[in-house]
Amino acid sequence: MLNEIDIAIIGGGNAGLTLAAQLAQQASPPRTLIIEPRTPEQRDCSWGLWAKAPQVKQLERAALGRWPRWQLIDHDQRVIHHSRDYSYLSLSAARYLQDCASRLREPVSLVQESVNSLQADGDQIRVETDKQCYRASQVYDSRPPKIIENGLRQHFLGWHIQTNQPIAETDIATLMDFRVDQSRGLHFIYALPFSDHQMLVESTLISRQIEPKEWYQQAIEGWLQTNGIEVDLLLSEEVGVIPMDKLAEDHLQSPSTDHAQIASIGAASGAVRRSSGYAFQHIQQQMRALAAGIANGDRRVPAPIANRLTAMDNIFNGVLLSRPDLAVSLYMRMAKALNGDQFARFMLGQASTADWLRVIAAMPKMPFLRQLLHV
Ligand SMILES: Cc1cc2nc3c(=O)[nH]c(=O)nc-3n(C[C@H](O)[C@H](O)[C@H](O)COP(=O)(O)OP(=O)(O)OC[C@H]3O[C@@H](n4cnc5c(N)ncnc54)[C@H](O)[C@@H]3O)c2cc1C
Repeated sequence: MLNEIDIAIIGGGNAGLTLAAQLAQQASPPRTLIIEPRTPEQRDCSWGLWAKAPQVKQLERAALGRWPRWQLIDHDQRVIHHSRDYSYLSLSAARYLQDCASRLREPVSLVQESVNSLQADGDQIRVETDKQCYRASQVYDSRPPKIIENGLRQHFLGWHIQTNQPIAETDIATLMDFRVDQSRGLHFIYALPFSDHQMLVESTLISRQIEPKEWYQQAIEGWLQTNGIEVDLLLSEEVGVIPMDKLAEDHLQSPSTDHAQIASIGAASGAVRRSSGYAFQHIQQQMRALAAGIANGDRRVPAPIANRLTAMDNIFNGVLLSRPDLAVSLYMRMAKALNGDQFARFMLGQASTADWLRVIAAMPKMPFLRQLLHV
């Protein structure tokens, strides 16, 4: 049997379920099906982002923690930011996805199936899953992208722990503590205190090569020891790899990638910021704009990140790779050049010209000029 639908969304992750929840709120939603094989619990991890008060409120059901201050640390200094407008927020991916799913209503629905293939079928797309077939006039594909071979990645392992003693400074999120082994690439500890006895500690590496699990675990143990934090209980472990490079030409798993009725969304459409790995807010903006477009009869997917910004990020990454000796100082200089509001805007891809000028002025000129000439 072929089920006729208007829109098939492949993958009910951040992009897919955000889009579906927004379509479900519209006055006359299109017949939409989200096809996702896994439950939110199976995909739980923490998503960090900067948000202003109204969005913090909107996301509060999924929030694991919120911090008015954040810091970057190296052997010489500690840069602490405080923002008037933004908080740093950590969300439970599972809770966020459950919340989106709870807002779906007919004719927008979710099925637990896995897409095997997409094929053009007249003026429709035939979507074949492990259980059945659908015909849709539009497909939005959010299946995770492949990146180019040997591409730059951000990879990490994190522990959610309960501590023996109370944690100090629970109002500060540590975004990057560089006082760890730098021999395998740019390495830092990301630490979020969720309460005075619970925190997430992640060892994050920006490099081309994934290390064995034990490498990250040892880095976490070393950092905990240095900071006098004793683990009472390991509550959960999370691992992840985020692409920070070009997507492979054939990254869409569909054979008809040139078909206008099949478009990628979310990370698969290039929504991950290449210099930082942050994607949540870019995906939110892309899905808001797409849902508004669909309501007005325009099904094209807006670019998640401006080309100009991606070009700047590529130059930054080029310097990172060609001058690993400067890598830590690039992030520290950037953090030092900006205040909390400016830094949050910068990380969100909303930096003003003045913010950019501050960052450019703080960077070492020759490596960037060389990279620019190289590009
Ligand atoms: C562990 C981790 C932590 C991250 N942390 C942050 C963070 O702190 N801040 C931030 O801004 N960004 C973060 N990111 C980057 C980005 O925000 C997330 O990757 C985000 O989930 C991307 O959303 P998406 O919808 O594009 O992809 P996903 O959320 O990955 O959704 C894709 C979906 O496709 C489904 N799928 C796969 N195969 C099939 C199939 N055959 N049929 C149907 N469905 C299929 C998958 O199950 C998945 O649910 C993180 C990424 C990872 C991996």
